[in-house]
Amino acid sequence: MRHWRVIGIAALLAVIGTAVPLAATLVLSWRMATAADEERLGRTADQVLGNTLDIYADAERTLQSIASTDFEPCSPRHIRRLRDLTVNSLATDNLSYVGGGTVQCNVWGLAETPFTHPPAEVSMPGGIRLGVNFSSDFNPRRLMMVLGLRGHTAMVDQTRFAAPLGHPQTRIEIFAPGGMPVQTAPAYLRPAAAPADEDHLVVRREANGWSVVATRPRQSFLDHLDAAKYALAPIALFLAALVAGLAVWLSRRRLSPRGELAQAVRNREFIAHYQPIVELATGRCVGAEALVRWRRPDGQIIRPDLFIPLAEDTGLIHPLTDRVIEGIVTDLGDLLRRDRLMHIAINLCAADLNSGRILPVLERRLAGTGIEPQQIWLEATERSFVDIERARATLAELHRRGHMTAIDDFGTGYSGLKYLERLPVDALKIDKSFIDVIGTEAPTRHVADHIIAMARALKLRIVAEGVETHAQAAYLRRHKVEFAQGWLFARALPAEEFIAFCRHNRAAHGSPSNVITLAAE
Ligand code: C2E
Ligand code: CA
Ligand code: CA
Repeated sequence: MRHWRVIGIAALLAVIGTAVPLAATLVLSWRMATAADEERLGRTADQVLGNTLDIYADAERTLQSIASTDFEPCSPRHIRRLRDLTVNSLATDNLSYVGGGTVQCNVWGLAETPFTHPPAEVSMPGGIRLGVNFSSDFNPRRLMMVLGLRGHTAMVDQTRFAAPLGHPQTRIEIFAPGGMPVQTAPAYLRPAAAPADEDHLVVRREANGWSVVATRPRQSFLDHLDAAKYALAPIALFLAALVAGLAVWLSRRRLSPRGELAQAVRNREFIAHYQPIVELATGRCVGAEALVRWRRPDGQIIRPDLFIPLAEDTGLIHPLTDRVIEGIVTDLGDLLRRDRLMHIAINLCAADLNSGRILPVLERRLAGTGIEPQQIWLEATERSFVDIERARATLAELHRRGHMTAIDDFGTGYSGLKYLERLPVDALKIDKSFIDVIGTEAPTRHVADHIIAMARALKLRIVAEGVETHAQAAYLRRHKVEFAQGWLFARALPAEEFIAFCRHNRAAHGSPSNVITLAAE
């Protein structure tokens, strides 16, 4: 269930993680493409406007030249001059002289055709009359711009204004002063005017009363997508692979035992259960050992031997120890403050002991709780004494603060008398394996006796672990073992059940007779 959820979330993340950057890339490149289109369109409009102004300036210059001569109109000299000026002008196609409403001569010589005015005319600086879209009888298909000054007219073929070849969908409109549209091609060649709406980019440029409007269809997002799809395919593939890889890596991490354990620590899935410790002589409960439990969200409880080794290897044991101490303070604080003879034993791991990390942790967590140091016992196995000197320093400091310390699973390690003498501990816990064989024919059946004798010699207290039968309890009682813990008395209980157990136990046996004091130095 949990795995499917992680995989589902990873897949969803993969899809989102691919789609979002891809869409962002697309939108961005579309915006950039639109901006580039607009800039290109602006450049085209600038060029067309520049060309337009040049043409007009050229025609104007030519006209001014001929109008300022004092030749006799239509004399051979005059006509030659008309011709020379036209040849030397880049834009002017014809120069003529009009008198009495008739064209009297032009570059081709004498003429006698009636003069017609262009459809619209405006006054320009220098006294020039300007008209556009004039079609002469002589060449009705050509549209001409006509400039008039003192009887002279200059004509310019309007196809000269035609825009240089731009984008095939670009439309250019040129307006002469007065807003007269200059038709650059005959009607049958003229493209329909582009609509100026949301779907079109429109750029307008103006100078000296002339203006140029350039229009082209705006690139739609879909068009851009279509154009960009091949360029985007490798990016999309790369992103998809990257995100998919990341999702796999993440889900692997989350699904790995280490990932699950780390997640469980964050989710506070670890709680302590408490196994009562009784005084054998009286049956009174004197405390408990805190044993950590992993309670999964589905209610399943996982035994510590399945996750403690992994927690130790990965360093997650530290937050776990902290959780146990926190649990004791919140769950059993009241009980411990009411009953000063009650203690709780905490299991330390090798790292807690060798680094001394447990010392500040305990100090901080117990400060202001009203729980006294002698009410917290600390257990460590012989296997956790990796660095004996540092372990000894930590044990000595715990002892100095008033905590009781015990060697857990005693007898399963390599401890000898000499070794034990050098360690500042207060108690030994005889391992369950030696209690199990009491009263049997097993070769290890006398180990418990030796441990008891050794503890006695060193003036250490003894706790027998894993007591399951009355016979075992009777044997231990006979050998003056003070404390025992085991299913005979109770299993590890949730906090409320342990508190209830203590209440019943007190009712039956009264308070413990003597305070558990520190072992003699
Ligand atoms: P341990 O410290 O030796 O704890 C005693 C174990 O023996 C507990 O197993 C307890 O439930 C079990 N036990 C007690 N009485 C009996 C009995 O009469 N019969 C039987 N068959 N078993 C009994 P548990 O709780 O599974 O803990 C296993 C080990 O996990 C502990 O061994 C201890 O080494 C470790 N552990 C538990 N809690 C912590 C913790 O908070 N921190 C650390 N570092 N280790 C812990
Ligand atoms: Ca223990
Ligand atoms: Ca033990």
